Amino acid sequence: MAISKDLLDILVCPLCKAELEMKPDQSGLKCVQCKRVYPIREDIPVMLIDEAKVEE
Ligand SMILES: [Zn+2]
Repeated sequence: MAISKDLLDILVCPLCKAELEMKPDQSGLKCVQCKRVYPIREDIPVMLIDEAKVEE
């Protein structure tokens, strides 16, 4: 079960409050502004700055 669209709509980057977009392989949520990717574990997005990795 993937993250629902409704949930995705309310989630923002905890750092810069920008929108997030699902990675194509659904392994994480990527901030459109700072490019941090927040991992998704067992269908739960981990919205912790310490857990996020910057991806270009
Ligand atoms: Zn961000």
